[in-house]
Amino acid sequence: SGADKLDYVKSKIGEYVDFPKKGIVFRDIFGALTDGKACVYLRDLLAHHIRITCPDVELIVGLDSRGFLFNLLLATELGTGCAAIRKKGKLAGEVVAVEYQLEYGSDTFELQRSAIKPGQRVVIVDDLLATGGSLLAATALVRKVGGVVLECLVVMELLGLEGRKKLDCNVHALIKY
Ligand code: AMP
Repeated sequence: SGADKLDYVKSKIGEYVDFPKKGIVFRDIFGALTDGKACVYLRDLLAHHIRITCPDVELIVGLDSRGFLFNLLLATELGTGCAAIRKKGKLAGEVVAVEYQLEYGSDTFELQRSAIKPGQRVVIVDDLLATGGSLLAATALVRKVGGVVLECLVVMELLGLEGRKKLDCNVHALIKY
């Protein structure tokens, strides 16, 4: 069942206390991805969710860098295209940019203007929702080039940080901590 698959994936996700610095509990998706069954279950769970909630999705957009593990995977599964939101300076051609806040300072995400057609229906994917700063910037970028954000979809969400309160779109997480 879906619940069994979810329990299995959850059991394989790594937990590293005080990484990358003191006070952070790092949730390591790569612990699950080294397991063949967990890979298949993750694909099934994410694709199933999108088929139910966003059957008319046209493009899966992944965030630099662990979101890229899921955008092509889901695009091939669902028969959509996929696109990448990257850190500043990596994408060729005309790009739009949005700055977002980090714990100390800020960074900038970019998206190619040609990646999304006006009115195209988009699901944004990443491994984890923490403060929501990254996904907030991602939704702004998609809208800047005329895309319609159907949902932000993550494998994991840190509920204590209330990141979803920042986001004005549907948000779904498979696993909540
Ligand atoms: P935020 O913008 O605060 O929602 O942070 C989300 C981004 O930071 C995601 O791309 C995550 O990969 C990464 N991240 C933040 N906190 C953690 C954590 N505790 N464990 C793993 N990744 C994290």
